[in-house]
Amino acid sequence: MAESQNMKDLAHARTKVSFDIKDMTNFLHGGEANVEQRRYIIDLIAKDPVFNKDDWGWLNHTDAVKRGIAMSTRLAEIKMEHDLNDLDFATMMEAIDDTLPIVLHNGAFIPVITSQGTEEQIEKWIPPAEKFQIIGCYAQTELGHGSNLSQLETTATFVKETDEWEINSTSFTAAKWWIGGLGALCTHAVVQARIFIEGKDYGAHVFVVPLRSLDDHRPFPGIEIGDIGPKAYNGFNKMDNGFARFNKYRIPRDNMLMRFSKVSREGVYTKPPHSKLAYGSMVLLRSVLIKQMALYLSRAVTVSTRYLTVRRQFNNPTSRNDSDLNPGLETQVINYPMVQNRLFPMIAQSYALFAAGSVMMEMYIGLMTGLSSGNIAALAEVHAMSSALKSYCTTFAVAGVEESRKLMGGHGFSYFTGIAHLFASTVPSNTYEGDNYVLTQQMARYLLKEVKTARTEPEKVTPYSKYLLLGLNRSAFSRTTCSVAQPDDWLNPAVQLAAFEHRCARLAYELSDAVEQGGLDTANPKTWSDHNIECYRISHAHAQYVMVLWLIQAVRDAHNPETDVERRAEPASVKVLERISNLHALHTIQTNLADFVEDGYFSPAQCQSLRAQVKAIVASLADDAVGLVDAFDHPDFLLNSALGASDGDAYKRLWDKAQSEPLNRRQVCDGYEEYIRPLLKKHGEFKL
Ligand SMILES: Cc1cc2nc3c(=O)[nH]c(=O)nc-3n(C[C@H](O)[C@H](O)[C@H](O)COP(=O)(O)OP(=O)(O)OC[C@H]3O[C@@H](n4cnc5c(N)ncnc54)[C@H](O)[C@@H]3O)c2cc1C
Repeated sequence: MAESQNMKDLAHARTKVSFDIKDMTNFLHGGEANVEQRRYIIDLIAKDPVFNKDDWGWLNHTDAVKRGIAMSTRLAEIKMEHDLNDLDFATMMEAIDDTLPIVLHNGAFIPVITSQGTEEQIEKWIPPAEKFQIIGCYAQTELGHGSNLSQLETTATFVKETDEWEINSTSFTAAKWWIGGLGALCTHAVVQARIFIEGKDYGAHVFVVPLRSLDDHRPFPGIEIGDIGPKAYNGFNKMDNGFARFNKYRIPRDNMLMRFSKVSREGVYTKPPHSKLAYGSMVLLRSVLIKQMALYLSRAVTVSTRYLTVRRQFNNPTSRNDSDLNPGLETQVINYPMVQNRLFPMIAQSYALFAAGSVMMEMYIGLMTGLSSGNIAALAEVHAMSSALKSYCTTFAVAGVEESRKLMGGHGFSYFTGIAHLFASTVPSNTYEGDNYVLTQQMARYLLKEVKTARTEPEKVTPYSKYLLLGLNRSAFSRTTCSVAQPDDWLNPAVQLAAFEHRCARLAYELSDAVEQGGLDTANPKTWSDHNIECYRISHAHAQYVMVLWLIQAVRDAHNPETDVERRAEPASVKVLERISNLHALHTIQTNLADFVEDGYFSPAQCQSLRAQVKAIVASLADDAVGLVDAFDHPDFLLNSALGASDGDAYKRLWDKAQSEPLNRRQVCDGYEEYIRPLLKKHGEFKL
């Protein structure tokens, strides 16, 4: 068949790319071996009919959960058949592109037992879990409480006589709720419950709780389980988010995970050496989410960039030299500066997410290595960092997925873009693993402690909080201004970082002052909650600072001959990466400009030159946009998008997809005889 104009447009755009796409892909995914392995895994999934996506748009929740279970069990088989590791499992989940009932088995059940169980407990539970002889979920949230862990109403009371725990849902609102995998699939759960020993409350702890018989899958007596029903935007529809009520249900004492806190046969409680030691598994889940956001946002911008390259509207000339792109044709909408200024910053954000995902994972691994030898020095910072990053990254990534839909105009609203499904899958990430607003209090609390350290022992401030030292001399700090004199000065990473550091330092000291003064104001005392808006601001400001820093460092490393070869890139790629890094930093400043202006750090003239610089960088990326998204290396199976497929044949694919709509199997629709005909004939025959 002849090549359509759409296909020609996308192919032509690829001829303009200034760098080697393969080289950029290797840089993004940490080397050629990783790229090959990811492709191999995605291909495994793509070939298997159980993962076919053709009818997904028409599945209701009940059918979808059944499909989700079929997919889950096949996934488990593939993992065992090919002896795949956790990273490969995560890639399989990426390829499957939906949240399955089994996802928390590897994502939470196993990591929680591994990080919080004793050697004996790990020996008991992990081998059967790895062989899927038991399948687990993670049960913390209840009908009445989620964020406030300390007020969970599920209790575990120690029964000394029988050496057991009695798990009980003490009220109607104590029912576990939202638990992924619980509604239909799982045989076990790690359950958060408050422990009571001889009437004394020792707070929430974690238990391995058998839920369903391993013979016939019936819930054990004393447990009532079910599915909580369909969810917003039809998202998570293959996931059996479930509820459970426990009625004085007994489990052995050593089902409590006792690596840190312990309860002896005599009922003697030993508290953990550090109150936050159990946070390791939370840090893991939040760190993984950063990497996931990189994959999700980059998918959305791949689809929109390709479609906007082949979409044409109006004959408006644009300043991009496009005579060869649009010979006698309407303008490609990607040439409009308005479109570019909405789209390209999100491409840059995707690159920043890739960098942040890698650093966050390295921080997690470093933390766990330290913890295994009893070193808890990094715990507070890594916990705060993963909380701040999770909140910030999931917020802008989800907003970016929706913006990608809007960028595509009317067709963007079709299910066949692949973006509707992506949005429904990503949007709850703003809520689970910690509500994005509540979570920012963690970073704020951490920084307040660092402010105290900066004042008393400045040499002990951790590297990422070093900016606090800038504010120690308050009068000098308040006179500091940005050094930009020429527009090109904005392209200096040191200038960019100085701006972010100044803003973070100011916000942190302002919060610290407000908390201190609020406490002293006896007539009108302020509570911690009164400061939560400022907590959100400083937490997101800190997250933006480290994201900018990490992308700058990744680009620097890319052309440093001493860097591992997997993290290096060719000069042509580095040139574009520098633009991407500049766009990411400067666009982030531009969208938060008030924070940089309100203490006079930027002058009005600097604000204007910043905006001009952002526009100039955006325009300079026009020829590379398609290459930058191709480099994410998302295959068509993964994108599942008529508009964003790699060949660009958007209209043909959209047409073909619409033909698969079941309504179109009949010339006359169901309901004609019942509804339409009676209305048409109600007042007699009308002759055409
Ligand atoms: C798709 C999905 C899957 C999930 N899977 C699981 C699972 O597998 N296992 C599990 O245990 N849980 C799961 N959850 C539950 C999830 O972890 C919680 O819903 C989440 O942590 C938010 O807690 P919450 O529901 O108590 O929100 P709430 O805390 O009730 O939040 C309600 C509102 O109050 C605000 N708010 C609350 N406290 C404060 C405060 N101190 N200051 C200011 N504002 C505040 C919040 O910002 C929010 O706007 C899942 C949830 C979803 C949506």
